[in-house]
Amino acid sequence: MKRRDLLKAASAAAGALAISPLMARASDVPAEIPQEVDVLVVGGGTAGSIAALQAARAGAKTMLLEMGSQLGGTTTTGGVNFPGLFHAWGKQVIAGIGWDLVEKAVELDSGTMPDFTRTDLRHSALQVRINGQLYAALLEEACLDAGVSLAYYQFPLAVEPAGKGWKVDVVGKGVRYPLACKQLIDCTGGADVVGMLGLARLREETIQPGTFTFRLGDYDVKQLDAQEIQRRYRKALDEGELEEGDYSHAGGSFMGFLGGGGKNAQHVFGADSSTAVTKTQTNIAGRRSILRLLRFVRSLPGCENARVLEMMQETAVRETYRIEGETVITCDDYTSGRLFDDAVCYAFYPVDLHDKHGVKPQPLQPGTVPTIPLSALIPKGSRNLLVAGRCVSSDRLANSALRVQAPCMAMGQAAGAAAALAAAANTTPMKVPLAQVRSVLREHGAIVPGNEG
Ligand SMILES: Cc1cc2nc3c(=O)[nH]c(=O)nc-3n(C[C@H](O)[C@H](O)[C@H](O)COP(=O)(O)OP(=O)(O)OC[C@H]3O[C@@H](n4cnc5c(N)ncnc54)[C@H](O)[C@@H]3O)c2cc1C
Repeated sequence: MKRRDLLKAASAAAGALAISPLMARASDVPAEIPQEVDVLVVGGGTAGSIAALQAARAGAKTMLLEMGSQLGGTTTTGGVNFPGLFHAWGKQVIAGIGWDLVEKAVELDSGTMPDFTRTDLRHSALQVRINGQLYAALLEEACLDAGVSLAYYQFPLAVEPAGKGWKVDVVGKGVRYPLACKQLIDCTGGADVVGMLGLARLREETIQPGTFTFRLGDYDVKQLDAQEIQRRYRKALDEGELEEGDYSHAGGSFMGFLGGGGKNAQHVFGADSSTAVTKTQTNIAGRRSILRLLRFVRSLPGCENARVLEMMQETAVRETYRIEGETVITCDDYTSGRLFDDAVCYAFYPVDLHDKHGVKPQPLQPGTVPTIPLSALIPKGSRNLLVAGRCVSSDRLANSALRVQAPCMAMGQAAGAAAALAAAANTTPMKVPLAQVRSVLREHGAIVPGNEG
């Protein structure tokens, strides 16, 4: 075969996705994909879907790249379907686009809201239980209604500055195309885009464990012999039939595990979603843990028919990278309830760092409600770039509280508003008058700290 024919054959074999080291040409772009947008949100998870909704509802031509199959991220695909906390000390402190959709999800599922006036309850009792998959569908509907271009199974391969905005090389199953945008919002959880651009990110040597969400059932806890179960559990740990982390309270009462069916009671140490390789390892480790647990539980007297009643597709990851932003929120700022000059939303949750011994939440002092400044969503030294979600610029302890879902949604809304305004004014988010950002947020139902315009 001649060399030219060989090349042709190789290219045909590679199929539609022939990766070339060069940026794809605009003429290769599938017709349904815009070539240019005002705001590009990368990551359609807890924060990103709300960022895209806010940007689009504020009038920006918006596109959302999500490498997975649905919106909602950790809330939906990760199975952490109990967002919190929207209320503090008996009063609502986070509302807006995320809250509206959570309310819709509860209503459409005939669910119930906690009694938010109760100030005597543990924080977890004030989280809202939702049907995660239904919430994903509602997010998608809202995005389509708002005119957001949704691009599943796609992610940026490279990002480079171009004029006053960005040129993004997008890749996905069977597609690769260049996309121009004025503003970028990185909502990937681990600040992937910030990392691609070589901007500063922070990461601890040991990160918090992740958790694979599942629930076992079809046994009657009341009929079980607690002493025998505990003896068998200790033996299984000692002999390696179970591993540390399979039950997040390693060595604790295994009846506690069985009582809740294991939901949110398992840890995957080193769980890391930063790259395809670490994510693969993380998911395999999570599933292996569940198989170990299921086999062990079925070997217990009275649990012979135990089954998996619920199991997610992937391990939910608590911590990878945080950005180093124009402002870094410290634990002191957080626990003292510092009101930042450029605060755009509240946050509320105990400091909540998980390790191999489990977690001991440290509640805030009565009346304290921390705030999040816009400058903590802006990577240091960047232009036309924002982040929202768990990668918010913060020290580790502050982050262990800021990372929860209601503040992630509120940050997403704030980033979406700032990006839309910056795109319209052809400027960078830092230069958008704060009063304008706050005004858009209030128009869209958000609660903004302080009384400033
Ligand atoms: C086990 C566990 C328990 C938790 N418990 C609670 C709780 O009780 N209450 C609470 O409120 N919060 C809880 N949290 C915290 C909270 O759920 C997360 O911190 C929060 O949802 C993170 O939101 P995010 O938008 O930053 O990231 P995610 O929701 O993870 O979204 C990131 C999205 O980006 C996509 N993505 C990633 N990289 C790329 C890329 N390069 N290109 C395109 N797409 C990309 C992902 O597929 C994902 O959809 C818990 C977290 C975990 C892991």
